[in-house]
Amino acid sequence: MERHILSKSTFIRGSQCLKSLYLNKKRPYLRDKISDSKRAIFKRGTDIGVIARDLFPGGIDLSPRSPSQYQRKVLETTEIIRQGKNKILYEAAFQYSQMLILLDILVKQDGLWIAYEVKSSLSITPTFLLDAAFQYYIMKNSGFAPEAFYLVYINENYIKKGEINLNEYFLKKNILPEIIQMEDYIIKLIKKEKAVLKLNSSPDIPVGEKCDTPYTCDFKGHCWKKIPETSILYMDAFDNSFKFEWWKKYGNKLEGISKFISTKKQYAQIYSSSHKELYVDKNGLNSYLEKINNNYPVLSVLFIMPAMPVFENTKPYQLIPVGFSLNYPGINKTDIVLTIDHQNPILYFIEKFRKALLKHEKLISYDSKYLIRFFDENHEKKNFISKDTIISLSEVLKIPYIYHYKIKSDYSEKHISSLLLNMENKNLDNSLLSMNWFINKLREENCDSLKKQSENYLKHITNFTNEFYKFIEAQTDS
Ligand code: SF4
Repeated sequence: MERHILSKSTFIRGSQCLKSLYLNKKRPYLRDKISDSKRAIFKRGTDIGVIARDLFPGGIDLSPRSPSQYQRKVLETTEIIRQGKNKILYEAAFQYSQMLILLDILVKQDGLWIAYEVKSSLSITPTFLLDAAFQYYIMKNSGFAPEAFYLVYINENYIKKGEINLNEYFLKKNILPEIIQMEDYIIKLIKKEKAVLKLNSSPDIPVGEKCDTPYTCDFKGHCWKKIPETSILYMDAFDNSFKFEWWKKYGNKLEGISKFISTKKQYAQIYSSSHKELYVDKNGLNSYLEKINNNYPVLSVLFIMPAMPVFENTKPYQLIPVGFSLNYPGINKTDIVLTIDHQNPILYFIEKFRKALLKHEKLISYDSKYLIRFFDENHEKKNFISKDTIISLSEVLKIPYIYHYKIKSDYSEKHISSLLLNMENKNLDNSLLSMNWFINKLREENCDSLKKQSENYLKHITNFTNEFYKFIEAQTDS
């Protein structure tokens, strides 16, 4: 059997951009280094896929241990189906016309073969349908069309009560009628993708909105390297269609753009790029800082967002507070409250937070969006907090009173600390996604090492917020 040239993941890659498909096959070394948060998302997908097998326990696992086994697994799958002894197959392999798929779960029910593809999401997206349509096409043409094709995804309304009930945690939807209708589109796309894979040089495809839709392409580092940091493409003050239209007409030039500026944010971003310097609105910044009493404590919060609920009465992907800290400027004191070893971390967090707010009129944080979302999700318990209670210093960059063209739409603590504060800090990674390791450990270990790591994280965020505050204060004098 010939080796395959397209798989389900490369087919989806090609549907986003044919150049990405080409580079992935012919120049894989140009791919961007995978970030910890992306790696965590991939791992989460794989973990949920394995957990979903328990919906149909006792199956035979056909997962190949290395790429060299793919074609052998196709033959094994065919033989197992022919013999009819096994009725549940995990990662069954099918190949047609040099295209290979591994189906998550294949089950024989009442004498009919039913396909199940598992997704670690709360809803069905167009990309999932495309992915399923490709798989169905390969199965059908290799002689094994299933009688139904289900997408298995996570029930956003599931609430953990005791052991996880997989039949309630997962939802199943038969999407066969939709994907059968997509066949013509699939055939055309396969033709284009195969043609691109035969090229001797990379197709001439410019960057565009597709570079981030539906996924951030891992060849951005390569394709975008000639786009200067001052380009309009990096400005989040303009919408995508305007930005790419401008860029197609005028490239990286900004002359003449002033007549299209309608907001303060657009002005600040164009100013910083055109002058290659920090934009500072001193009057705006002064009035903003006047409203902040620098004796307000500095708040840092750590959340996790587990796909599979860890605590009782919580839902999939619900924000779970791990803890918070309050740092009191001037007296060099920090109070840390950790909630993970409490049976109900949400209630414990809210109770402790309410007490902290009784003593302080306002708190300063770098970014309060997850905290606000947390209180929105727990709306019946939020009446002691208003949106003005927590000051988000990142507003200074988003309104903005200060802007640097190298921000390039990335306001994360990690990026801002190295760009504006000259602080290199690996420990400031996105708290929600990089916390996957944390959730896994929570299931396995006692809490002591987790508490230490959580405290360290809160200290790093506090230190960053204090330094950021000093930085913005300094801009009023410069
Ligand atoms: S960065 Fe954009 S243009 Fe380049 S391969 Fe990816 S999607 Fe295509």
